Amino acid sequence: MQNNFDVLIVGKGPAGISAALYALRSGLSVLIVAKDTGALARAHAIANYYGFEEPITGAELERRGEAQATALGAEIFTGEVLDLMFADQFHARVKGADGEREFLAKSVVVAAGSVRAKAPVSGLDAFEGKGVSYCAVCDGFFYRKKNVVVLGSGAYALSEAKELLPLAAQVSICTLGEEPKVEIPAEYAVEKEKIVAVEGDDHVQKIRFASGKEIPVDGIFVALGTASAADLARKTGAAVQSNKLVVDEKLMTTVPGLFAAGDCLGGILQVAVAVGEGAKAGLAVVEYLRQLRTKEGAAK
Ligand SMILES: Cc1cc2nc3c(=O)[nH]c(=O)nc-3n(C[C@H](O)[C@H](O)[C@H](O)COP(=O)(O)OP(=O)(O)OC[C@H]3O[C@@H](n4cnc5c(N)ncnc54)[C@H](O)[C@@H]3O)c2cc1C
Repeated sequence: MQNNFDVLIVGKGPAGISAALYALRSGLSVLIVAKDTGALARAHAIANYYGFEEPITGAELERRGEAQATALGAEIFTGEVLDLMFADQFHARVKGADGEREFLAKSVVVAAGSVRAKAPVSGLDAFEGKGVSYCAVCDGFFYRKKNVVVLGSGAYALSEAKELLPLAAQVSICTLGEEPKVEIPAEYAVEKEKIVAVEGDDHVQKIRFASGKEIPVDGIFVALGTASAADLARKTGAAVQSNKLVVDEKLMTTVPGLFAAGDCLGGILQVAVAVGEGAKAGLAVVEYLRQLRTKEGAAK
């Protein structure tokens, strides 16, 4: 598989597939990266989507969408997007079955659905922006030579910890009572106990574990589950409000070339809306890339 595409789409739910169909039919090269089937596959019977006299299972609708995109030439890569950044073009770091890969794209549609793992830790929310962060690449700089803790047990948590390691004095990974899902290298301290409290005054100062043990911390980075749409957007510098991506009427974020569609934008969480927003984002990508080519042509 090549590693450079016109459009990279995160998610193969109705929003991602719909965006892909419009981009593909305009002749763009499209890579869809998805870790699994998303919300749709959990729907046992969809009875309110246009064109189906009898209810259809979410899994079957998903299968048909994927087949349609593949028939039009979409590449589909199964993997988890750990990191997204913009430097001349978009760079996505993806963990697949055979390790990590980097893909490049001129534009990105984030259609990652709405699932966001919430940390089961009392007092955490009160410290958001006061020592609690959801983005290592955005906020790691503020914790130079300090002690930081990453909450999570999977590949995303390790990826955030790797981002922090060159900056912080010490990086610990707290798995909140779970066994790590990835091998954690020796340079990270691992705490497997559940956290019962996060404490401080106007800034995080310590965390307390179920056993009563306390450790002093300057910063806590939340990286539970997989990177959400908001997590990925933040890494590119795109604006996020109340954990939702800020988009214009064409569904472009505040970073040119980065679009979003579907459940990750909030609002009405339905297949029809996700498909409609995917179409809108797909067409907006086509227009964006046309304008980009015109500008690049004029500059030569
Ligand atoms: C039980 C249930 C029943 C439902 N019933 C109905 C119904 O009857 N009618 C209806 O209209 N709607 C229904 N819905 C809602 C509908 O399924 C969603 O609105 C729709 O699937 C949203 O589409 P989406 O493309 O935005 O997100 P999703 O379908 O959730 O797809 C998200 C995609 O993003 C991928 N992804 C996320 N993060 C990453 C990452 N970091 N790296 C790589 N990939 C990533 C996922 O793997 C997935 O492929 C139901 C939902 C549920 C859960």
